Amino acid sequence: MADKKIGVLALQGSVREHLDCLARTEGAEGFPVRTREELARAEALILPGGESTTLRTLLRTFDLEEPIRRRILEGMPVWGTCAGMILLAKEVDGAAAPLGVMDVSVRRNAYGRQSESFSTTQIVPEVSPDPLTLTFIRAPQAQRVWGDGRILCQTNGRITAVRQGHMLATAFHPELTDSTAFHRYFLSFLP
Ligand code: GLN
Repeated sequence: MADKKIGVLALQGSVREHLDCLARTEGAEGFPVRTREELARAEALILPGGESTTLRTLLRTFDLEEPIRRRILEGMPVWGTCAGMILLAKEVDGAAAPLGVMDVSVRRNAYGRQSESFSTTQIVPEVSPDPLTLTFIRAPQAQRVWGDGRILCQTNGRITAVRQGHMLATAFHPELTDSTAFHRYFLSFLP
């Protein structure tokens, strides 16, 4: 079977890390997405971590916000890591969010300064039977999930991964670890 074409939004953030993981994921062909034409080639899209306010500005500058939203609403699988989760949520710090497609409300930089970055090891049963390293970098917290949103993972009592049909949001960064379990899991969203 042909490799699935997985676009990685390549405006800012951990783009190369996701592309590296996809290169190690059987059945996936990753490529950067910066234009509408590249978006049109993608069968699924990853929104990387970075800085969500910058990403939001760049999405508009590159004229990608509406086309991405439309593709997601049409059913294109999408996965946002960290800042990507912020882009997907319907509510961010009580206000409307950039793409606003997932039934999730998030708080940015929710872990505060002292614990801006940390890693922990955890089993996420739906993703892998093996313990996975979850890396949080100035991460958001999902505070509320409603509608079709389903909590996939909680870490220290906080919601850290949510799935809603063809949409996935993780507050942590699987692309910064050796494991491709999350990339393989995301690939399973494709027909
Ligand atoms: N703190 C960043 C934001 O609010 C997200 C950090 C990340 O993606 N690692 O956009």
